[in-house]
Amino acid sequence: MTTCTALEPDLLEGFREAVGRENVIESPLEVFGYSYDASFLPLDTRTVPQVVVRPRTTAEISRVMVLAHRSRIPVTPRGAASGRTGGSVPLQGGIVLALDRMTSILELDTANMMVSAEPGVRTIDLHDHCARQGLFFPPDPGSWKVSTLGGNIAENAGGMRAVKYGVTRDYVMGLEVVLADGSVLETGGKAVKNVTGYDLTGLFVGSEGTLGIVSRALFRLRPLPKARGVLRVVFRTMDEACAAVQAMLLEGVTPSAAEIMDAACLEAVALARKTSLEAGAGACLILEIDGDGPEALDAQSRRIEAITGQAGRIGFRAAATREETEALWAERRGLSSAVAAMAPNRLGEDISVPRSAFPEVVRRINAISRATGLRIPVFGHAGDGNLHPSVLCDLADPDQAARAHEAVDGIFKAALELGGTLSGEHGIGVSKRPYFAGAVGPVSLEAHRAVKGALDPLWILNPGKIW
Ligand SMILES: Cc1cc2nc3c(=O)[nH]c(=O)nc-3n(C[C@H](O)[C@H](O)[C@H](O)COP(=O)(O)OP(=O)(O)OC[C@H]3O[C@@H](n4cnc5c(N)ncnc54)[C@H](O)[C@@H]3O)c2cc1C
Repeated sequence: MTTCTALEPDLLEGFREAVGRENVIESPLEVFGYSYDASFLPLDTRTVPQVVVRPRTTAEISRVMVLAHRSRIPVTPRGAASGRTGGSVPLQGGIVLALDRMTSILELDTANMMVSAEPGVRTIDLHDHCARQGLFFPPDPGSWKVSTLGGNIAENAGGMRAVKYGVTRDYVMGLEVVLADGSVLETGGKAVKNVTGYDLTGLFVGSEGTLGIVSRALFRLRPLPKARGVLRVVFRTMDEACAAVQAMLLEGVTPSAAEIMDAACLEAVALARKTSLEAGAGACLILEIDGDGPEALDAQSRRIEAITGQAGRIGFRAAATREETEALWAERRGLSSAVAAMAPNRLGEDISVPRSAFPEVVRRINAISRATGLRIPVFGHAGDGNLHPSVLCDLADPDQAARAHEAVDGIFKAALELGGTLSGEHGIGVSKRPYFAGAVGPVSLEAHRAVKGALDPLWILNPGKIW
């Protein structure tokens, strides 16, 4: 853990004037709370910021950026710090720009089915706000009770419903962004069709706080599905479960979520929830279906029962009550912590491969597990080829730590060899930085560098991330 030297008194006074004295945090104890996020970064990677600044408006962000730019001070934007790759960790100290006071939902435009909101709004709050008007904001990262819209945009967050409804990028219609020098850029708007200039909105989605500070966002919405159901389908092998998902999608039965877990995950869930497994269970799908009403759900459920039957399922359960639905979802939602409880440390990864390569990448991960002698439970979003392998280890043991890093290297290599990516939804941040250049290649790297240099010529925005 590194601590940086204090900022100039004049600069601090400037921040106090910009956002109000009470919104500039300087006490060592309090700023320490802004030195970490939900990633698996070792402690010595982290740095305590010199100051935390909490703006309330776009104008305040702009004033802070003007001062930071003038003094060449690093600025790390921060939402709820639920990021998994160290994105909001202030690697070079400087300012943490906490967006947690910008929590207004500004306009719900039901006629155009769009909503605009500030970056600090929690995902679940926007979802619930829209749902009360019969509208649906689909992006639903597992962290949606805490994660913020700004963080979701910066990471292009996905979620369980991505298989049917897509990811954050698919809903962002326009942005207001404060650039590194404090100028305010507006992109996109309510016109559904818009090819006026480059797609600057798309450029900022997934840019991990390295190109600008999102201060407002406009999202499109969908009609809220009237009914939802949950199914649990058990197989002997991951191959069978993956084949079942492929068959469903090919036949035009698209569940709104298709979550997969392997045998090790099932064991973790059984241990955590004190339940027992079907004999021979080696993989499980938790499927969510939605539609216009109970008849539509019944029809989908019957088709899924038939398709998974042909794929060799050994168990099928459709939740009949709200309690059963909750219990089935709780298995999936509790999975991350259930898996984490199996070892002192867990290196959780987030690779993505073409859907057809899902079984092969799981086979390769199993081979890596055997070669390194470490357990690597795999769960993920089978419908979109996004997996979360968890390398279980004890990092206090140098030999295990070395094998765990070898396993992570092998997992990334397997993903890239199979035409996949380093990250499906968590971004590059700090943890995947060493792999970034190799994954995108020299030409793309230069294009990225040119974009970064154009928008943030002094490289003060979230330094140390991606690059
Ligand atoms: C239990 C758990 C489950 C998760 N499940 C999922 C999942 O299903 N899908 C998924 O995609 N992710 C998931 N995540 C990861 C994480 O929740 C998402 O990346 C989320 O979008 C981060 O939002 P945040 O508000 O916490 O952002 P932070 O972690 O605070 O920041 C993330 C990045 O966004 C930048 N940033 C934040 N606000 C702004 C802004 N206003 N302008 C510019 N940059 C900004 C930060 O600098 C940082 O680079 C999960 C995390 C946890 C802990």
